[in-house]
Amino acid sequence: MNPSPKPTASSITQAKSPPIAMGGDLEGGRLKIAAAGIAIECATFSPLPSDLSDFNLLRGADLLSRYPFAARYADIELTPVMQANALPGGVLRRAVYNDLKVEIISGLRDSGPWDGVYLDMHGAMAVEDIDDAEADFISAVRDLVGPDPLISASYDLHGNLSAAIMEQLDLLTAYRTAPHEDALETRARAFDLLVNCLRAGTRPVKAFIPIPLLLSGERTMTIVEPGASVYAEITEVIDNEKVLDASLLVGFTWADQARSQASAVALGLDEEATWSAARVLAAAYWGARHEFDFGVPTGSTDKCIKMALESKAPTVFLSDSGDNVTAGAAGDMPYVLGKLLSHRVPKTLFASLVDAAAVDACFAAGLGASRELSLGGKLDPIHGKPLPVTGVVRKLRESAASGRQVILAIDDIDLVLTERRLAFTTLAQFTELEIDPLNYRIVCLKLGYLFPDFQRIAPCAIMALSPGPVSALPENLPFHTIQRPMFPFDRDFDWAR
Ligand SMILES: [Zn+2]
Repeated sequence: MNPSPKPTASSITQAKSPPIAMGGDLEGGRLKIAAAGIAIECATFSPLPSDLSDFNLLRGADLLSRYPFAARYADIELTPVMQANALPGGVLRRAVYNDLKVEIISGLRDSGPWDGVYLDMHGAMAVEDIDDAEADFISAVRDLVGPDPLISASYDLHGNLSAAIMEQLDLLTAYRTAPHEDALETRARAFDLLVNCLRAGTRPVKAFIPIPLLLSGERTMTIVEPGASVYAEITEVIDNEKVLDASLLVGFTWADQARSQASAVALGLDEEATWSAARVLAAAYWGARHEFDFGVPTGSTDKCIKMALESKAPTVFLSDSGDNVTAGAAGDMPYVLGKLLSHRVPKTLFASLVDAAAVDACFAAGLGASRELSLGGKLDPIHGKPLPVTGVVRKLRESAASGRQVILAIDDIDLVLTERRLAFTTLAQFTELEIDPLNYRIVCLKLGYLFPDFQRIAPCAIMALSPGPVSALPENLPFHTIQRPMFPFDRDFDWAR
């Protein structure tokens, strides 16, 4: 079903492309650029498929507001086609993907021809019955616009590239921070590269080196070593003359697909320098592979709860990493909640658990009511089982953005129950619920690493290696399709480019 062939290591190593002069036929007219994209990260081990309702569809002025940097250019005409972005989830339903693709391709057809296309992507999309969904989508864009327009994409560094993708793209740049703090900056860089190359009439050399490394995001944060030093190499290899841009993508671990692996990319005007830049990044990452580790204390859930209870810190942030919603898990596994109850933890905030039926029951019961509920284990019945509890409804809230939410007090735990899948990644989400996380002894979040708001305030962070479809120990998950050997699944092999 996939029009693009699966990449092989040998085809990738041959994928060199000299810079092409484009003729510079831009004088007199404004550059016509389209913006579009589908951005979702899909955990293939989650049994909960991603659906249309998981997407935020941006069109018109809403989409243009994602690209404020475009206003810096007087010589471009930017047309917002459509960009769909979603909370990470399971594999995307084929019919939904087809509809998104059709809308974008139709929009490109209706408003073209184009000088350039900017694709606002994530890079870890998985679609039912398609081996390489981004290759399928980007190939469709290329088929529509033809060989001449430049196509530039921005990716999350947790995206998985392939030779088929890189053959269709002219330009690609990825985040350089994890936890991510440079999303807007990365979009701007992809756009600047596109405009600058169009103005100059050049199609740069692409150097793409897949690296047989597949470490989880939790092991490859750029705010701790060795990630900080490896990522610092990116700006070192860019000279803005021979080498225009470079990226290191650690890839997305929780996708059992042939293209799942890390990659180094460089774009430049000099073939040798560009490949050399990509080789430097690939070697730096490969060379540090044994040093990558979780940036915080980890262990079994029981061990981590004991660590939290023994901690002298006023508040301990505890990650329920196996059900990390921001990596695509369903967010309804009550496993860690059950463990916290069995340890009789003092004043604890648990955010959050998605259970629409339990939210219904709490709204029906009303404030102050006590209810017996069977929580969670419904969206992902493979990795979680419902947990029977008795709780008191402390707060009921409804908002257009987040849907209905309940604070349910169970013993000394305040549980945030939601009717929709949600990830608590910002302090503002707690402020809306009139909650100050720092008033709690333990704050348990369905995350892996802490997002920037919590990184800044957490007196102590611990990550429970809880079970689930996005286990922080992916070596324990049933991979069948990734290429081998692949570190850390295989350890006794060497590799060099
Ligand atoms: Zn990411």
